[in-house]
Amino acid sequence: MNKTSRGRLFVVSGPSGVGKGTLLKLVLPTLPNVLYSISVTTRPPRLGEVDGRDYFFVTDEQFKRMIEDGEFLEWANVYGHMYGTPRKWVEEKLASGYDVVLEIDVQGAMQVKERCKDAILILILPPSMEELQRRITKRALDSPEEIERRMNKAKWEISFRDRFDFQIVNDDLNRAAGELRRILLGEVKPSGRKKGVRCNNGANR
Ligand code: 5GP
Repeated sequence: MNKTSRGRLFVVSGPSGVGKGTLLKLVLPTLPNVLYSISVTTRPPRLGEVDGRDYFFVTDEQFKRMIEDGEFLEWANVYGHMYGTPRKWVEEKLASGYDVVLEIDVQGAMQVKERCKDAILILILPPSMEELQRRITKRALDSPEEIERRMNKAKWEISFRDRFDFQIVNDDLNRAAGELRRILLGEVKPSGRKKGVRCNNGANR
């Protein structure tokens, strides 16, 4: 573990259903110095989700207050619910030398890119749009309208691909996990990036 310098900040984004959560669940347990940031959301918990493990579930009022108090590094409205990254926790971990991963949407990724100049942005891509639709449909979490909404959002998100440092096509889970692991380990580096990250304060839009 490297506790003598600031940690690195990674952002992992990608369309809903692309498998970013699965990839991170495979890779992160093998990397003790890389910590996963638990987001705050106003979305109700899904079956099996645990408060404080999957998300911190809060009310709209609580979320609004957290925005006003500058508690978020970034926040966004995704599919009608609010999601945000707790700024203090991320700051503390980076300062202690831990690397931190944010699993957030593209709007959030662009805010982090703006505020934390040396953040490393990773976009997870589906092998094809047809395959993405198949995966979203298979999850059976959503209505047909919701699936269409997610497909449209996916196209919009993928249009940001050039603004990411790395793009990983999740065609084969183990191969993609290996690629992600090498990036998080620092074995593959984006051009022009070197050391620990500092962020401008707050996300008070
Ligand atoms: P879900 O509700 O399916 O867990 O997540 C929906 C989307 O919100 C996903 O793309 C996920 O990455 C994104 N998301 C989760 N937490 C955050 C966050 O703290 N900030 C932002 N901007 N997006 C988030």
